[in-house]
Amino acid sequence: MASKMLQFVKRARAMPEKRAAELRRRDFGEIYDEYDPEAAANQAGRCSQCGVPFCQVHCPLHNNIPDWLMLTAEGRLQEAYETAQATNNFPEICGRICPQDRLCEGNCVIEQAGHGTVTIGSVEKYITDTAWEEGWVQPVKPARERRQSVGIIGAGPGGLAAAEQLRRKGYQVHVYDRYDRVGGLMIYGIPNFKLEKEVVTRRADLLERGGVQYHLNCDVGSAESFAALRERHDAVLIATGVYKARDIKAPGSGLKNIFPAMDFLTASNRKGLGDSVPAFEDGTLDANGKSVVVIGGGDTAMDCVRTAVRQGAKAVRCLYRRDRKNMPGSQREVANAEEEGVEFVWLSAPEAFLGDDVVKAVRAQRVHLGMPDATGRQIPQLIDGSHFTLEADMVIKALGFDPEDLPKLFDTEGLEVTRWGTVLTDFKSKMTALDGVFAAGDIVRGASLVVWAVRDGRDAAEQIHHYIQAKAEASAVAAE
Ligand SMILES: Cc1cc2nc3c(=O)[nH]c(=O)nc-3n(C[C@H](O)[C@H](O)[C@H](O)COP(=O)(O)OP(=O)(O)OC[C@H]3O[C@@H](n4cnc5c(N)ncnc54)[C@H](O)[C@@H]3O)c2cc1C
Ligand code: SF4
Repeated sequence: MASKMLQFVKRARAMPEKRAAELRRRDFGEIYDEYDPEAAANQAGRCSQCGVPFCQVHCPLHNNIPDWLMLTAEGRLQEAYETAQATNNFPEICGRICPQDRLCEGNCVIEQAGHGTVTIGSVEKYITDTAWEEGWVQPVKPARERRQSVGIIGAGPGGLAAAEQLRRKGYQVHVYDRYDRVGGLMIYGIPNFKLEKEVVTRRADLLERGGVQYHLNCDVGSAESFAALRERHDAVLIATGVYKARDIKAPGSGLKNIFPAMDFLTASNRKGLGDSVPAFEDGTLDANGKSVVVIGGGDTAMDCVRTAVRQGAKAVRCLYRRDRKNMPGSQREVANAEEEGVEFVWLSAPEAFLGDDVVKAVRAQRVHLGMPDATGRQIPQLIDGSHFTLEADMVIKALGFDPEDLPKLFDTEGLEVTRWGTVLTDFKSKMTALDGVFAAGDIVRGASLVVWAVRDGRDAAEQIHHYIQAKAEASAVAAE
């Protein structure tokens, strides 16, 4: 035991931190490390193969992390890739954007022992990027084609993971999306500096080459009726995500230059994709040279502040009503944002937006955290007489998202939703209250993570397969 411990301490010390730091992009503090084969092997070799893989337990996909780390350390990259992709449809995407500090890496025993986590996400990214370069990533080739078809509403990670799993089993898979591109929030929400768009589009193309059929610019509920999809397909999966932005009701909230986060991020992402975006080109949605105040403390707020910095904002402040410890965003991203010059104004809530026609400042009030509510979170309480003003010529509201009213949108009374508006599914079968209609991802959980959407999509695909098979068997018996 002692010698094993010694070995692991030795390996940890041999970790090429300097080398990894050199390879890391220099301009901004990115959230993942860039590796070459040697750096990846050294990093993967730091895994102590502890036998109690908390990393695996805390990964929503229960990825076989210790095994693919060992294979990477031994230079067996193709096998490492095969192991990583066996449980994850998008390992290179999760490797880039999972909040690993809350998932696998935060639970690594080496991290717990105070030696710094094995950078699991960066290794996962490296293995899969290498697999793409080497041509090991190939389109799905089902062993047999089935005549049954599945309609999937939503081309985000939940819908796409389900699409791939169902194609593997040979189903005819049709994905409908209201956007003009495949990828959901991975394309129009998450910024390019965290997740390069080519990484998403090459996956979308791969699925298409594997037989998944996309129907883009197709808004289900208006361009196409939900009832028609149910009629057309043997099963339907709802993976529409959550898009209704939460708002602030405060004096002056109608002033110009106050924007919802998704307007700001979508414009920036569209520009990055080469689209013409008049509201960006005329400067409206461009933070360059402006004093920007972002309101909120989640990952979306972090993406807004870091995008504003990259656009050349004069000053970027993040106003959040709780403290650093209680913010929902990834701590790693907060640290990166701070490194990049973002100022965090903790324990402060907006009270009014000031200006005549265009916003000029945000008036805010200090907050202290009171007694916990039923969920255990301390309730923010305003401190009398603690007003202060922040200069702002652009304000971005990043207060989170709620689901749209799907029963109304889909004109389907029978689709049951929870009191938060998320779609209600059976815990085991993933089926909604409607026969043959399943749901996955944010529309079931509320705003969550890509890795959870992938997990839900995979689970739903498995249940859809059971459902269709059971129906086929029942009709065969009835026909006898
Ligand atoms: C700014 C931002 C940053 C984020 N950063 C991270 C991060 O760093 N790491 C992370 O893990 N997660 C992050 N997330 C969360 C993550 O993006 C989501 O949890 C994930 O994308 C949910 O996947 P989904 O498939 O359920 O939905 P989505 O990705 O939202 O995809 C849903 C799709 O359904 C389509 N759709 C909706 N309604 C209809 C309709 N009626 N008809 C047709 N199509 C429809 C939409 O156009 C969309 O393409 C972030 C989210 C945001 C907003
Ligand atoms: S999928 Fe996410 S949580 Fe799981 S191992 Fe990869 S980076 Fe960690």
